[in-house]
Amino acid sequence: PPVAVVVVGMAGSGKTTFMQRINSHLHSKRTPPYVLNLDPAVRSVPFESNIDIRDSVNYKEVMKQYNLGPNGGILTSLNLFATKIDQVLGILEKRCLPEAQQSQPSEGSQAQAQPAASTAPSQIPQHILLDTPGQIEVFVWSASGSILLSSLASSFPTVLAYVIDTPRSTSSTSTFMSNMLYAISILYKTKLPMILVFNKTDVKSETEAVEWMRDFEAFQAALQREEEEEMDGGGDGGSGYMGSLLNSMSLVLEEFYNNLSVVGVSSMTGAGTDEFFEKVEEKRQEFERDYKPELDRRR
Ligand code: GDP
Ligand code: MG
Repeated sequence: PPVAVVVVGMAGSGKTTFMQRINSHLHSKRTPPYVLNLDPAVRSVPFESNIDIRDSVNYKEVMKQYNLGPNGGILTSLNLFATKIDQVLGILEKRCLPEAQQSQPSEGSQAQAQPAASTAPSQIPQHILLDTPGQIEVFVWSASGSILLSSLASSFPTVLAYVIDTPRSTSSTSTFMSNMLYAISILYKTKLPMILVFNKTDVKSETEAVEWMRDFEAFQAALQREEEEEMDGGGDGGSGYMGSLLNSMSLVLEEFYNNLSVVGVSSMTGAGTDEFFEKVEEKRQEFERDYKPELDRRR
């Protein structure tokens, strides 16, 4: 079966641009993906999607009708969409599972006249790509987000791509740490394999971030440097407990980091895209091996 790649991340991290990049990459390899847009509030989507939440719910209308602000509007739109998850999965299974295609009854003489166009095995997508709302919390922490993810994972191997704004997240050790803690909380909430996608490497390389993850002494050295800079700048010394907290956390997080795949990409230039798909394949196998049995047990 194809692997489902769910793209999540903070607003502005580059999810949509990344989707556009991996989508066009797969098209250029002649293995076009099946694409879903789950962001109801996006104005224009720079890639062609097969299923778009905006076709079934009008976010502006939802806000008006239920008298909601932007976040409430997105959440309610997602809830409305989640009520149709059975239909959505039905379509996905029909389009993306080869068995379903073979057992499909023929749809009359017209369909028989040109079966190759719609049912050739090469046309079965190997990837399902999902873009999610800019406000990550609305998707990851809502009941409907959970329903969408667990339904998807019950039919397809499912992998999370957690997109990170590399220049921003490595601007300080505390910003980096908050990003990592957020990734952890999503990992434990969703219980799905995760790839950390350090995006925007055309602006800043992922090297430092990866070093901070793989070698806690490197992280602690960066922390030390920050503290010294702060002292020189006449800081109030308030970083003491923060510093020791970050220090301890870097030790605790080693275990967690070991479970993650990491890749640096530039959605702008396309650098790192091949490597990303290698990681997707690794995580797909991990899903089948480690996650699927657990999901089945819980069901
Ligand atoms: P989303 O909110 O996560 O969907 O983020 P967008 O895809 O809308 O991107 C947010 C901003 O980051 C836009 O201005 C993009 O042009 C920019 N951006 C995205 N990816 C890259 C990248 O790889 N390099 C650079 N330099 N900018 C990027
Ligand atoms: Mg977006």
